[in-house]
Amino acid sequence: MAAANKLKKINLEIAIEPLTVDVSPRNIEEIIKESDIVLDGTDNLETHFLINDACLKNNLPWIYTAALGSTACCMTIIPHQTPCLRCYMSQPPSPGTLPNCDTVGVLSMTTGTIASLQSAEALRLLAGFEPTNFFLYIDVWHREFETIKIQKRPDCDT
Ligand SMILES: [Zn+2]
Repeated sequence: MAAANKLKKINLEIAIEPLTVDVSPRNIEEIIKESDIVLDGTDNLETHFLINDACLKNNLPWIYTAALGSTACCMTIIPHQTPCLRCYMSQPPSPGTLPNCDTVGVLSMTTGTIASLQSAEALRLLAGFEPTNFFLYIDVWHREFETIKIQKRPDCDT
């Protein structure tokens, strides 16, 4: 709700429908059904995979991002065209086995940078340009930007 209020102050001409819900397998398709594109800003692997599978099932492009500490990553997924999150990582690790923002924190510069890159990619797609076709890894502390080519897994049916 706070984000919606802030965005309305920036641009009165846009329609914003804030949702205050926990995303789950029961409601994910209802949440994304009228979207042109899904921007993932969630904070756990289970939800990233939930978004991946729902977007692939509904043929919706989506942009994965994740951030931790000074590092972040971004990957654009176009169903049936690009590799998906399961091509990068077939299964999420068990909950609680990886560090997360609660345990190690995240720099605001990290989330700001990756969100800007994600937004730019969304504008590219909405304007009809081809998606960037790589996995982007950044480290704002060490000033590293790396692009990694991901291949479709032969056993992934996306
Ligand atoms: Zn895949």
